Amino acid sequence: MIRLFDAHCHLQDPRILHKAPQLIKAAQDAGVAYFAVNGVCEQDWDSVKRMAETHPCVLPCFGLHPWFVKERSPNWFKALRECFDSTPSAAVGEIGVDKGSRGRKVDFSEQMEVLRQQLELAKELNKPASVHCVRAFADLLEIMKSMGPFPAGIILHSYLGSAEMVPEFSKLGAYFSFSGFLMSLKANKAKKMLKMVPSDRILLETDAPDALPMSNIDSLHFVEGDTSLTEELLAQTTSSSTSSLGKSSHVLADASMLPKETLNHPANIHNVLDYVASMLEITNEELAELSYQNAVRLLSYEGSKVLQN
Ligand SMILES: [Zn+2]
Repeated sequence: MIRLFDAHCHLQDPRILHKAPQLIKAAQDAGVAYFAVNGVCEQDWDSVKRMAETHPCVLPCFGLHPWFVKERSPNWFKALRECFDSTPSAAVGEIGVDKGSRGRKVDFSEQMEVLRQQLELAKELNKPASVHCVRAFADLLEIMKSMGPFPAGIILHSYLGSAEMVPEFSKLGAYFSFSGFLMSLKANKAKKMLKMVPSDRILLETDAPDALPMSNIDSLHFVEGDTSLTEELLAQTTSSSTSSLGKSSHVLADASMLPKETLNHPANIHNVLDYVASMLEITNEELAELSYQNAVRLLSYEGSKVLQN
């Protein structure tokens, strides 16, 4: 069976925390061996820590996400450092910069300062870091150039940057991780960029509970009890895939018809695998194994629970 490594997700997210054991089990049944679970703010670091203690397949990551920079306590950096002291198996993440609609509400120089501190910590601890970047790739490249290279690796999570920047980030130690958000790029643009990514730097992720892949509805796993989904809605979206001639059409309803807040299930990493493999014109088996080996190599740093075999 195919084995996969979810290189970036948020199973501690309050929207799904109480269902995490079932989600993990379902994704494991679908071949997912490890989940890099990223904390985003001081309040959720403890949930990440506890989840990693309960589940050997959960790789904990601690970081302050740019959206939560404003709310940080005066003590945040000390608290972050303590997370790594008490959980030496952890990596750094999620950290980053954001000039998108939500990120614009957070002072950009503060975002950059918080990012710089956390990149320094990752270097000092010799750990990889998972980085979020929205509409700020030039700023990210500049700070990474000024501090790099990063021999322990940087995960550019949900990468949607340009093809041209791929070699520059690569040189500094970056890995490129793809989620369902990739389907929001024009196919030819996504293809051009994916083909620039060195084969030893490609990763797959779900970013669950966000980034629901825009695949056909029949191929997706849904989070049980997701309140954004009603029976009627699911029935409606599936019946609309039947043509007016009365025979079933091959055009199935896709996830773009679902409410924006529909939760993503970690087993939907298969939809990301399908999409990226088709763009790269390689088999799902090849891409699964390649991305799995890349994630294992990157995330089997000293103290990690990921074992290189
Ligand atoms: Zn994330």
